[in-house]
Amino acid sequence: MHAEQVEYSPTFSEILANNRAFVGQGGAGERPETGRPAKQLAIVTCMDARLTELLPQALGIRDGDAALIQVAGATIVNPYGEAMRSLIVAIAELGVTDVMVIGHTDCGTCGMEAKHLLATLEQAGVPHDAVETELAREPRARDVLTGFNRLEDEVARSVRTIRSHPLVPGSVAVSGFTINIQTGELAPVDV
Ligand SMILES: [Zn+2]
Repeated sequence: MHAEQVEYSPTFSEILANNRAFVGQGGAGERPETGRPAKQLAIVTCMDARLTELLPQALGIRDGDAALIQVAGATIVNPYGEAMRSLIVAIAELGVTDVMVIGHTDCGTCGMEAKHLLATLEQAGVPHDAVETELAREPRARDVLTGFNRLEDEVARSVRTIRSHPLVPGSVAVSGFTINIQTGELAPVDV
């Protein structure tokens, strides 16, 4: 039996080589015992690639401390979408009692327009007909693909969505913040 030949992209190949080196050097060492966050904390934040190291450093958290939920703009778009589902699971199954929503400065979701985004996707090879079909089929598509205007307003909106969710216990603390993507400084958001 011979292994199936898989053609990976250059990026995948690089990551896989990194992983072989990592494992070859002994791997991760001592690990937290469970996925239950030790600080009983969940964080909803953006997928921005600059947050990968900055966020845990700026907050003083390490592996095992917090459940991280990363979605574009740190926005809870849908009360039963993936981000909210993750939060409900974190509260019910992982013992989370505190939820921080952390938007960031210079966020790509700020000012994002569905029209521009769809045009870019067409340039990348999505047929125009497919775009038109999706917009006709899914009335929420345009809203979902539209970003926000003001960071603080968007964070506040997500905080309110979580606080007022019928399946979130009133005892759960939910607050909103912005993080400066250059300095890592947190600022509270009035809700
Ligand atoms: Zn962002």
